Amino acid sequence: MNAALFAVEAVVYFGVLAVLFRARARIGIGAFFCALGVMHFLETYLAAILYVELPFGIIASPGSVVLFTGKLMLMLMVYIRDDAVVVRQPIYGLLLGNVLLLALALVIRNHVALPLSPGREADFGLVDQMGWLMVWGTAVLFVDCILMILAYEQVRRLFGGHLLPRLLLCGAAIMTFDQVMFFGGLRLLTGAPYSVLVGGWVAKMAAVALYAPLVSFYLRHLEPRKNAKPMRRLADVFDLLTYRERYEDLLARSGRDALTGALDRGRLESQGRAVVDAAALAGRPVSVLLVDIDNFKSFNDRYGHAAGDAVLKRIAANVMAQVRASDLVFRFGGEEFVVICDGMAGAAAVALGERIRREVAGAAVGEAPRVTVSIGVASCAEDASDYNGLFAVADERLYAAKAAGRNAVIGERLPETQDAPHLALVR
Ligand code: GH3
Ligand code: MG
Ligand code: MG
Repeated sequence: MNAALFAVEAVVYFGVLAVLFRARARIGIGAFFCALGVMHFLETYLAAILYVELPFGIIASPGSVVLFTGKLMLMLMVYIRDDAVVVRQPIYGLLLGNVLLLALALVIRNHVALPLSPGREADFGLVDQMGWLMVWGTAVLFVDCILMILAYEQVRRLFGGHLLPRLLLCGAAIMTFDQVMFFGGLRLLTGAPYSVLVGGWVAKMAAVALYAPLVSFYLRHLEPRKNAKPMRRLADVFDLLTYRERYEDLLARSGRDALTGALDRGRLESQGRAVVDAAALAGRPVSVLLVDIDNFKSFNDRYGHAAGDAVLKRIAANVMAQVRASDLVFRFGGEEFVVICDGMAGAAAVALGERIRREVAGAAVGEAPRVTVSIGVASCAEDASDYNGLFAVADERLYAAKAAGRNAVIGERLPETQDAPHLALVR
């Protein structure tokens, strides 16, 4: 009787959710996700309190056998028919929703409740157990989903396009892993006996054997795909599932100037200022180099903006090639760059400026006309003791370098390459 009820529950559960998923183009995928979330709650509740006897003396809960196994198989189905970008939404949503549930339960339990009638008091013991079980369950689910999808991609080698054996193998492997992990939590929280571990495992395998054909049927007959999905690299799938592609994209793009790849003006205001202020406060030397392209307007006027952009990119690359990995290079306005060197005192900064100037001039060989840069250098504590002060001094020196004939570096100290004719010096 119990086994038959399990089978009915599984078919109803899968059937309704599959219909919601199938209708996502018309009603939106939110309906499917919400229904899945509600079922997740029921699943954990049942897994905490309802255990029944199945044939061969097996003891199992419909929560973990019917609902949990079904949910995982549905997740795999979503991944196969849509992709990792879709399936990661419920994976993260369920995890964070459960953390929120637990946080709220911790607040709610502090209420002084009115006694409504005997036997109807809030059972916070159950809330505690369920809360932790839900968090544990979703943490395991999170790992399960990622492993299952990676495994599904991996067994493509073994079975090629044969869907059913892939579903069966992945389902069985992951549910075995899950059973061990989930039972660990359950035993810790509720003291469940070991027979639950074995019984639950057998029942979950039976559930996989029922769900795999259902998923396969859905994918083959209810929503067949016209063209086969291209093979994905495992690392790409993993990156998608863990939102790494977003993160790396964000890191790569945010705060960077699209043309030159240097950090942008916004980052100068936040990060640049913070670096200078922190160094000044700690009494560490820090230098600012203002790099400005010489006669760039006339270059643009003669050769056009596209050629100008190419030179701008080239010079940015020249600057970035000379600085240390820890130095920061910002694009400041149109054809000016700011380099901030934490821990670098005046003399070293002027020497760096000189290397940059030489690299730019050297790379310009063959360009007609040769595009060069002028650089003003200011250092803390010699020239000023804060960001604004350093900027003002570097700016003054940049103008002095322009006045001295351009293609020059001006800083506070006499650099060793004193004899270089292009090097204007001020004290
Ligand atoms: P100076 O040696 O005194 O610095 O002369 P300059 O012509 O470089 O000085 P100015 O600051 O007056 O001119 C800057 C020019 O840089 C103006 C503009 O044509 C050019 N510029 C600014 N941003 C860009 C850009 O993104 N692309 C290109 N191609 N040119 C730019
Ligand atoms: Mg300028
Ligand atoms: Mg200029």
